[in-house]
Amino acid sequence: MVARTKIKKTKVTITGAGGFIGHHLVAFLKTKGYWVRGVDIKKPEYEKTTADEFLLLDLRIWDQAKKAVQGVNHVYALAADMGGMGFISSNHAMILHDNALINLNTIEAARLASVERYFYSSSACVYPEFLQEKTNIAPLKESDALPAQPQDAYGWEKLLTEKLAFYYQEYGLKTRIARFHNIFGPLGTWRGGREKVPAAFCRKIAFAKLMDNPEIEIWGDGLQTRSFCYIDDCVKGIYKLMMSDYAQPLNIGQDRMVSINQLADIIAQIAGVDIKKKYISGPQGVRGRNSDNTQSKKVLNWFPEVSLEEGLKKNYDWIEDQLIAFIEERISQQKNK
Ligand code: NAD
Repeated sequence: MVARTKIKKTKVTITGAGGFIGHHLVAFLKTKGYWVRGVDIKKPEYEKTTADEFLLLDLRIWDQAKKAVQGVNHVYALAADMGGMGFISSNHAMILHDNALINLNTIEAARLASVERYFYSSSACVYPEFLQEKTNIAPLKESDALPAQPQDAYGWEKLLTEKLAFYYQEYGLKTRIARFHNIFGPLGTWRGGREKVPAAFCRKIAFAKLMDNPEIEIWGDGLQTRSFCYIDDCVKGIYKLMMSDYAQPLNIGQDRMVSINQLADIIAQIAGVDIKKKYISGPQGVRGRNSDNTQSKKVLNWFPEVSLEEGLKKNYDWIEDQLIAFIEERISQQKNK
């Protein structure tokens, strides 16, 4: 009889597993055969988690951070108090305080628990404002982050934690750092004030379609530029980076830059409606931003494979369904009053 060898599964913790990217990462790592513990202060809102274990923990609290990483080999640190421009530009103190606590606690707990690999989710928001003052900016390469001048406290905290994660290699922890550039896709926040621009536009355009009213509001003149990376590409990049030997921060983003007006037009075309843009004042973030992917192609052979149109179609269809279900529920609640 052939002796059966029991393969010991690698155990991972994903913090922020109740959120958008963390939830997708749980599903991805399950397909790769990992034992996964999800950690968050809330459960995923739109779909049941596939994690082997899901712990409701507040990582600002030291004892809870220790529980989060106990007995695992790898940690993917995605937990953060975050949202779109509206949220980030008006909650500086809370964001800096909470995210610093989350990250200081999680990485130190991981060190004490002898975790081998540690992924930190940084952001394109670390890049200096003075390189992003025009709409047609040069794509941002990793070395552009210094000298530092991030626009908001959110970016300053990300930059500090990048340094923290990098220096934790002194303890033998293999830290990996990604700078995400506007990740989007289904199962992300689409209403309530923390949603990002692709989700907000999908909702506004779906609403315009359902109400037969073409007007949608845009913050600023809509000429500000960004690049948008689909979630499936993002999780593949996270995994490749985590398993690589590369210890410096790396861009994980799309390198096709579009204006906010163009983004709205693409979504309107997917929805099959004509829209009328109404420009109003509101937080716009930097004037232009794009990802330079030279380094991620070179060291990981990673590059985005899902086109903006293809990704937005999936995102739009999901949000239109969510919106219809939301409206129907409200109507039924009114009737039952
Ligand atoms: P998200 O808001 O959907 O997920 C973050 C999760 O962290 C949330 O579920 C939240 O409940 C959880 N969290 C907050 N405070 C916590 C606490 N005290 N203890 C435990 N959990 C806590 O955001 P996301 O889009 O999935 O982003 C994941 C990570 O990637 C974040 O660190 C974010 O800053 C970074 N990032 C995201 C983007 C993007 O475009 N989505 C861009 C740049 C960087």
